[in-house]
Amino acid sequence: MRLASRFALHFAVAGAVAAQTPPPGTTVLRAARMLDVKTGTVVANATVVVTGSRIVAAGANVATPAGATVIDLGGAVLLPGLIDAHTHLLQNYEGRFGSDDPNMVLTVAALGTTRRALLGAAMGRQDLEAGITTVRDLGNSGLNGDVALRDAINSGWVVGPRIVAATRALAAAGGQFGGLAPEAQQLIANEYVVISGVEDARRAVRQAFYDGADVIKVIVNTGPRVVAVDELKVIVEEAHRVGKRVAAHATDDQATRIAADAGVNSIEHGYSLPDDVIKTMKDKGIFLVPTDYPAQFYVDALGGMVTPEQRTQRMAAAQPFVARSADRLRRALRAGVRIAYGSDEYYNAPGRSRGQSSLLTLQAYQEAGMSPLEVLRAATLNSADLLGMGDRIGAIEPGKFADIIAVDGDPLKNVQDLQRVRFVMKGGQIVRNDSAARK
Ligand SMILES: [Zn+2]
Repeated sequence: MRLASRFALHFAVAGAVAAQTPPPGTTVLRAARMLDVKTGTVVANATVVVTGSRIVAAGANVATPAGATVIDLGGAVLLPGLIDAHTHLLQNYEGRFGSDDPNMVLTVAALGTTRRALLGAAMGRQDLEAGITTVRDLGNSGLNGDVALRDAINSGWVVGPRIVAATRALAAAGGQFGGLAPEAQQLIANEYVVISGVEDARRAVRQAFYDGADVIKVIVNTGPRVVAVDELKVIVEEAHRVGKRVAAHATDDQATRIAADAGVNSIEHGYSLPDDVIKTMKDKGIFLVPTDYPAQFYVDALGGMVTPEQRTQRMAAAQPFVARSADRLRRALRAGVRIAYGSDEYYNAPGRSRGQSSLLTLQAYQEAGMSPLEVLRAATLNSADLLGMGDRIGAIEPGKFADIIAVDGDPLKNVQDLQRVRFVMKGGQIVRNDSAARK
């Protein structure tokens, strides 16, 4: 029922925005503070001048051009739009249906690509309104539904974040499906491209680019089904030849080592990172995308259908996992591995929009010991570099896209305050402005 009502809402939204055109002229944003993510300094009495889709000036002593529209954001702090480098906008699993395995069957078999693309429009809008202006959407989008959504957003048909799309993830037999009966296994190809052998791997990469992929996603391990290092090296070679990147889902010692040896661009999750793998990551400039959450998240993910005893059990199970994740994040940081922000959120989180839920990952980073500035850099500069878009997004500076958010409170003390976003601009277009709504 939730899904049905969301579709209805977002059909209406798509109709309302179809006639939008880029804002003409110049807009000036003013706020008490602005974070320069590169230097780590806070600029007081900040002014940002935006013309069309780009920033033309930003700083403390910037003149307001005549005729510009001025938006005064008062005591808020201006930050670059956030960049979530690991999303699944075309999934919204329901805890009441169980965990990943039954949800994946339902999503692939019952929703299908076209409805999932519309679901993705809803999830994307929720991300954008929470301050996430760019996402790298890493598979689980049916038959290239992520490409359709990306192109629809770029065409102005729907409002959403910039999308770097992966098309179907490459994987060993079965993809990430739980056990499917033989007669149901044709479902797998609707979600994953199964590869076996180097030529198969090469063909899959070329097919992904034909399908519209900006980035290649590989599932290195799912239980005992593991992509071999020679297969992954060919995937990296094919992608890098044409200037594209490879994101590797890898969760254990063996898989993270295969991913690092093959020279992928990012290791996703990396729950287990032995020291030799961390060293290879540092040497090769491989990013870690830690898809972590505070322990409470794993308890809440069950929704309302839990007894107090179950909550206690769930928390007891979550805490050691969260502690191990925090430890591997600190070890990676100490070794100089670059961290990019990735939420990997794909469950309906009661009481929170997709974007609000995704921001909890940043809280987990701070709880693991990253400073708020390091966290904000992971979600801006580092993610922009991982996406190969560091020249266009990730900082508030002249020449970059005007992807700018305003946040109440002090996210430089506590990144939880990112939940208090009240203004969002993407490419010079105002997506959200709560202060205007209050007038
Ligand atoms: Zn994921």
